[in-house]
Amino acid sequence: MKFLYSDTQDYVDPNYDFLTDSSPPKRERYWDDQYAHEIMDEAPYDGLLVSMSAIRQAEGVAASKVRYSTAEEQRLLRVGARRFLRFDGPKHRNLMLMGDCGAFAYAENPEPAYKPAEVVEFYLDAEFTHGVSPDHIIFECDLQNPDVSVISKDTLYRYELTLENARNFLKLARDEGSLFEPMGAVQGWSPKSMAEAAAALVKMGYKYLAIGGLVPLKVDAIKQVLQAIRDRIGTEPNIHLLGFAKADHIGEFTGYGITSFDSTSPLIRAFKDNKSNYYMDNGRGGLDYYTAIRVPQALDNARLMQGVKRGLFHAEDLQAREQLALRLLREFDQDKRTVEETLEAVMDYSQFLVRGNSTGVTAQDRALATTRARIARTLEDRPWKNCDCAICREIGIEVIIFRGSNRNKRRGFHNLGVYHHHLHRTLADQP
Ligand SMILES: [Zn+2]
Repeated sequence: MKFLYSDTQDYVDPNYDFLTDSSPPKRERYWDDQYAHEIMDEAPYDGLLVSMSAIRQAEGVAASKVRYSTAEEQRLLRVGARRFLRFDGPKHRNLMLMGDCGAFAYAENPEPAYKPAEVVEFYLDAEFTHGVSPDHIIFECDLQNPDVSVISKDTLYRYELTLENARNFLKLARDEGSLFEPMGAVQGWSPKSMAEAAAALVKMGYKYLAIGGLVPLKVDAIKQVLQAIRDRIGTEPNIHLLGFAKADHIGEFTGYGITSFDSTSPLIRAFKDNKSNYYMDNGRGGLDYYTAIRVPQALDNARLMQGVKRGLFHAEDLQAREQLALRLLREFDQDKRTVEETLEAVMDYSQFLVRGNSTGVTAQDRALATTRARIARTLEDRPWKNCDCAICREIGIEVIIFRGSNRNKRRGFHNLGVYHHHLHRTLADQP
């Protein structure tokens, strides 16, 4: 089973100075920066997925979803995605490079953002190894398998359009000489309808299916969908899970013959999760999670600055506490400070974040106690000391400080590496 990372221009500055929190003056984003597969000893994934909606503007695609400038889009199509992503070195050039439409970005629109002919041309220019037919997301998934007669017009339209697109897409891809492996997108309103869609795609000639619409589903619902599909199409066709947010539960999905899946969750959780920000292998076949230590830049933090404006605290005072917290964390990393001393300094600054957030004294006290306990666990266990990935080796305790994208994304890269190892060990341990 292959783990693909869905890239949205995620790179870090390898020359970032953590002590001064600055990049070299001549740094050029993208050109000087490094992707996870460049900065780490080995790629922390088995391939990359690139979504068309992250690259190309179109009607119905929210501007915030487009991560590429027009110049970057043009360059990617000129040199190919592999070279653009610097995924073309000897260690990476045989890894999977998959394209899809990124249907989430236009899900609210009545029509998909791109037509099959445009998508085929895009995939060919990008030189993907695999490309998913243009789909239109169906959000609801009813495990009771309601009959088609009670399904809304819009849902049915999306269902039929996704299949019609797949038929045209396959023909066009074959006309162009089958330079990438076409993958048929499955959408449906229930396990049964998804199984029917899968069977229709196999009948068209697809050997690799991409199952969409899984993002909001719980683990058990996804299992029911996969079981229905396998019961209908047998074990032969390959299956990819699009946007598999339950990646940490992958050990429960080994019985469904999944060839590949993509996920961003190990990276995203580094800075979007309330408590599980740093992944660690627990040595018992599972993952453990630690809370990163929040030391935001006082003057850049909207919440803190609001408190300053309202006269609750002073900017100079906040900055002094921020600097003290950073200094003690670094001294702690060199074994010059105890857990207790470091915790005091961190909490002395963190309290302002909590105070600015919660309402009522009791709620604040509770939030502070929770934060304190989580940070204490992180400091006591020092998980970064037990990780030999290139990120933790190089920057030490900075990896677990929640502060700015150079630390937060590096922590995400570390998570990808831990997750990638975890996945392959889980698979190797299967009977
Ligand atoms: Zn690490």
